[in-house]
Formats: sequence, structure tokens, C-alpha cells
Amino acid sequence: MTKKDVFQNTTSAGLFTGGFGYAQGATVLGALLIPFGAGMTSRQLEFFKTFKVTAFHAIPSFGLRLAQVMEEEGIKKEDLFLKYAILGAEGWAESTRKTIEDRLGVKAYDNWGMTEAYGPGPSIECQEQNGLHIWSDYFYPEVIDPETGEILPYGEDGELVMTSLYKEAIPIFRYRTGDITALHKSECPCGRTGFIMDRIKGRMDDMKIIKGVNVYPSIIEEEVFNLSNYFTDIYLIMYHTVGVMDAVTINVEVKPEVDKEKAKKDLEKNLREATMLGINVVVFDPGTLPRQPGKAVRYQDIRDRPDGYKGWLKMMKD
Ligand SMILES: [Zn+2]
Repeated sequence: MTKKDVFQNTTSAGLFTGGFGYAQGATVLGALLIPFGAGMTSRQLEFFKTFKVTAFHAIPSFGLRLAQVMEEEGIKKEDLFLKYAILGAEGWAESTRKTIEDRLGVKAYDNWGMTEAYGPGPSIECQEQNGLHIWSDYFYPEVIDPETGEILPYGEDGELVMTSLYKEAIPIFRYRTGDITALHKSECPCGRTGFIMDRIKGRMDDMKIIKGVNVYPSIIEEEVFNLSNYFTDIYLIMYHTVGVMDAVTINVEVKPEVDKEKAKKDLEKNLREATMLGINVVVFDPGTLPRQPGKAVRYQDIRDRPDGYKGWLKMMKD
């Protein structure tokens, strides 16, 4: 982005640090800032058009929502002036990136942050879109084995640990982020040095161990989105029990006129290959799974629910 850009921030400047952080960043850059805030998707799109917005910041699920409303309202990407999207604050798959890029006509960049470390921005992708550059003058990152605390070599997945080098008032020292990634020394063609982190693979608390297999929601999401000819963007992963055994079921919505049986079979096959687990797929009609405002709820752990998945299903349908 340059000062010629028009930047719309779709997160609120309330307690969510994405609001102020990005507003201040855009202001320092000299770009025109539209501090729109969250929600009101149609109005956001209207502003995109009216103010010739070239860049926006959003959580990825809102990026998908924008694309969906564009489709519903017959707005074409050519009607807009968008070039860049900065997306973060929740896990998102490479296929989500592709969907957002295709439908909105943007380059979508991943960024990472947390409230304890200034909010969003400690790391972000460059034009190469191949890993997130950490501002290594401000942070010293490490990746550890979450069980033993041992520091892992470059390229190995573990829990990201951050130390702030300049932060005042609430500095963080070897702070465990709960996010799973791997670190690399930058050899990026863009010329930036320092550390690069992989895109977040999941959160410690998102990762479930099912039948001895580490299951990340992001891996399941990838498979759903790879079959976007069958399924909508809405899905819900359920961790539950069958008898005494842990099980995973994914609730998906098919698009109109899709053969449900075939969609189910294909997704089950792909999931088995991706996770080495038998994951049950339950297919719903479009628009029937619950939608949540704000950060998307992508999974529920109901393993302590005595009536199991059936009980949940009944509750949901009631
Ligand atoms: Zn780079």
C-alpha cells in the first residue's frame, strides 16, 4: 500500500485491537482511511464502490461474507477498485485465500498478532505470500515443543513463543502464544531479513487428539473448501463420542442441486486421505447450519455431552 490507497477497516475500534492498530498504520502511511467498523456487509460494499476503496482489512470469514453478498447482489469484482486485502485473527486455509482473491479481485495477505503484542501486525506476508515476516527488530520469536518446552529447530512445527524487545508497560518475555507454526530464517526474494513464520496451522486449544491422531480444524477446512463446487463456506466440525470412542463429524451445507450422496462420499474420501481418520460427513441443505456473528465458530467439542451428536442435532433442529 502507498499513500495513494484508500483503506477500509472492517473491524471496530473498540476493544478489538484490529480497529485502532490498522487505523493508525494507515494514517502513518498517509493512505485515506475509512474506519467503517464491523458488519453491515451491503453498506461496506457500497463504500467500497463510492470511495474507490483499494484495500481493506477483515477477519477471513468476513472476507468470505463480502464475497457471498457480492454474489447475492450481483456486484462484480470489476465494479470495485480493490487491490489488497489484509486478513487475520482467525485460522484460514489456502483455499479460503483463493476464494477471496478470485471473487473480490484482490491479493489477500495473511497477518498475525495477538492482543498481548500490540494486536495485529507482529508479522505479515510480503508480496511473495510465502510465510509471514516477523518484525524481528521488535520481537524475538522461538518455536518450542509444547510438551517439553524444548526449543525446536527451524522448520519444525511447535508452539510460537514471543519476546518483545521494545514494548513498554506490558512487555512479554518468552510468552506462549498457543499458536502452532514453524520458524525460518528469511531468504525471501523481497529482501527482508530476520525471521519468517509459516501460516498458523492451528491453536493448541484447537488441536484435538482423536484416536491418537492430531486433528487441526484448518486441515478439515481445506478439504471442504477444495470441494467448493459442492459445498458452501459454512461448516461445523463436531468432536463427539460414539460409545466410549472419540469421533469427528463434520456438518457441511451443499449448494443447490448437488448430489448429496456423492458430495458426502467424495469429502469422506478426501478427509480420510488428509487426516488418516474416518471422519463422518453430514450433509445439510443450504442455509440450515447456524451462523454466528463475529469470529467464526468452526468446531464444537461435545465429548462430555451424554446424548452425543444425536442430542446436539436434535437441539440444533429444535
Ligand atoms: Zn518477503
